Amino acid sequence: MRAIVVKPGMADSIHMRDMPDPPMKPDQVAVKMIRAGLCGTDAEINAGHYGQLPPGEEFLILGHENFGVVEDVGKKVKGFKPGDLVVATVRRPCGVCNNCAHGASDMCSSGQYQERGIMRRHGYMAQFYVESPQWLNKIPKAAEGVGVLLEPISVVEKGIDQAFLLQRRLKWEPKTALVLGGGPIGLLASAVSRLRGLTTYVVGREPENDLRARIAEQMGATFVSVASKTLVDVTKEMPPIDLAIEATGAAPVAFAAMQVLGRNGVLCLLSLTGGNTVAEEPIARINQQLVLQNNAVVGSVNANPRHFKMGVKDLATMQKKWPGLLPQLITTQLPWTEYRHWFGTRNSGIKNTLEISR
Ligand code: BGC
Repeated sequence: MRAIVVKPGMADSIHMRDMPDPPMKPDQVAVKMIRAGLCGTDAEINAGHYGQLPPGEEFLILGHENFGVVEDVGKKVKGFKPGDLVVATVRRPCGVCNNCAHGASDMCSSGQYQERGIMRRHGYMAQFYVESPQWLNKIPKAAEGVGVLLEPISVVEKGIDQAFLLQRRLKWEPKTALVLGGGPIGLLASAVSRLRGLTTYVVGREPENDLRARIAEQMGATFVSVASKTLVDVTKEMPPIDLAIEATGAAPVAFAAMQVLGRNGVLCLLSLTGGNTVAEEPIARINQQLVLQNNAVVGSVNANPRHFKMGVKDLATMQKKWPGLLPQLITTQLPWTEYRHWFGTRNSGIKNTLEISR
């Protein structure tokens, strides 16, 4: 089968090649890929900064944001049939730690987990993949056009879930959310936060007439541009921030975000920032404020099957509540043979996809 592969650790190694068809066991499902989503992690891997080869392999099939259709079902599989639309989760358990053993490989404590398309296991930028049903999520026909958003929204679901779990430390009645970044993760976080009934501000560098601002407004959030102001300045005009979600991909913003929380507020960090940036920060003020206000800061990565299920439900609710909103997040759909176009330019859309079949 054709696949888009990289050599992790080597810059710009991306190319298309024939890879062996994955063998299917009787308890597995074969899925034909329809489209793959592109994200910063894919770019980081192709830049040689991240990712690992599957053991014994020369290349890694890239891609973790996926959407496909069941093509074939092993004899021992129940509950799936050819034609079902599916999205697979990304992480697989390490086999040694307690969290992985209890269905929470997103909280793997050994670090020996595998992630499809990222760490030690082939991904989804291929004509087909094979998977055990336990890692597959069925996508209703009505969500066909936005199923590729399930993996990114699962990351958001986990982050917000973690923040709510942490806040069980007090009688928390959150009213206001601040989302930093108007990319796919930021806008999906804003949508989830609106579904949870929070007054939501989305802060981005884009001007206030940008598509991201219009999308935020359609879901009842307020877009605030920091094109010519600082984050601290714009948040002075807002009510106290109960929940902040950082999704800009810029490390300095994570530290700025620690300075804008309200009392008892929680900050969830979702950006995977590469590189070795060093910067001066007002550490005494940040620390004093976090302590005096009982603030919590939590990092969150990946998502477990429960978060994927929450994502399926929320995507359906969003489509009913805001018809036509989610498809606007998918700004560029490239034929997958044109993958270089995106990897060469990292063009400026919101969510870009590679169209593999259909
Ligand atoms: C993916 C996660 C993954 C993380 C770290 C993100 O882009 O969405 O599933 O855990 O990268 O590898």
